[in-house]
Amino acid sequence: MAVNILIIEDEAALARFLELELTHEGYAVTKAADGREGLAEALGGQYDLVLLDVMLPGLNGLEVLRRLRAESGVPVIMVTARDSVMDKVSGLDMGANDYITKPFSIEELLARIRAALRSGAVSEKRPAPLRCGKLTLDPARHTAVYGETPLQLTYKEFSLLQTLLENRDIVQTRDMLLEKVWGWDYAGETNVVDVYIRYLRQKIDSVFGVKLIHTVRGVGYVIKGDGT
Ligand code: CA
Repeated sequence: MAVNILIIEDEAALARFLELELTHEGYAVTKAADGREGLAEALGGQYDLVLLDVMLPGLNGLEVLRRLRAESGVPVIMVTARDSVMDKVSGLDMGANDYITKPFSIEELLARIRAALRSGAVSEKRPAPLRCGKLTLDPARHTAVYGETPLQLTYKEFSLLQTLLENRDIVQTRDMLLEKVWGWDYAGETNVVDVYIRYLRQKIDSVFGVKLIHTVRGVGYVIKGDGT
């Protein structure tokens, strides 16, 4: 299956050049010319890697990255102007996997793309798809399907569902879910687990008329092995 790369770059000549070179290397390429369009595309599509320019019209690249990281763990390589050290630091702080400075050689870019794709694959350990009844969750590709219908889940919804599926038939307390999905240092609202369970039920149980996620009163939540 082709590796899908999204290029968010407003310089048309550079974007076209990158598209030709990456396509020549066998990658499937999609282009977006401003920050807003790029963010929408990155969130809506199934991309293996995003090449993100910092200086963009609409939304700048750092803002695109910040909003993207609220929802997605897709590998991102930032493209920065020469000597803009702040952009590099901010980008890496905000979860970019790597950056490359203009002007760059195509060989350097290709090497960084291969490295980012590898590290993305290693950090996810290429887990096998999780299946339960009609539900299939593929953590490697970050896709979820119920029967034949693709589910549009946010990053956190996906993580929560993945955790419940990995622990089928084992009741997960709110604290366990909070730690596994939001991290041990999470300092927000404590009812966030219940809120996200509700989101998942709205997207799965309500739509398909099933009871996937069970409440264990006073304890937490569980998905049963056969999905009933
Ligand atoms: Ca630019």
